[in-house]
Amino acid sequence: MGPHALAKAQRLLGDNRDGEGDRRRQQYNHVDFVWGCTRCYQCNEVCPVGVQPLDRITEVKQAVLATPNLPETTALRHRRTLVEMVAADGWIDESRFAAKVVGWQGWLSLVPLGLKMLRRRKLPLPWQFRPSSSQGRSPGC
Ligand code: SF4
Repeated sequence: MGPHALAKAQRLLGDNRDGEGDRRRQQYNHVDFVWGCTRCYQCNEVCPVGVQPLDRITEVKQAVLATPNLPETTALRHRRTLVEMVAADGWIDESRFAAKVVGWQGWLSLVPLGLKMLRRRKLPLPWQFRPSSSQGRSPGC
């Protein structure tokens, strides 16, 4: 789904004459809809009419997140986990993050990728993680 259609989705959600809000929020809660947007800002930069599609898409994401009793998709769990971890600790512990989002069964499916990354020295080890609040600051800041 492209930025134009996703921005239009926000207009539909905001239309109080529309009685399909619940169905729409359920439909948009999918990686083929709002969760496929990676927030690269390209659409905002090139939009010729000032719609700022990413801002509209963010509003749809917030509406989806605020909707109770939606089916628990991986994309929704990803976003909720991200928000919870940052709110609790100020950073994302990637080792716990993956386990919370995809569960241990899904996490095991990542082992081949992890081994490949380890072999190529691209896998940060747990003791290399530091809270972002402690990075790049001098004592006393
Ligand atoms: S921010 Fe990037 S990924 Fe998201 S809709 Fe715009 S162009 Fe697509």
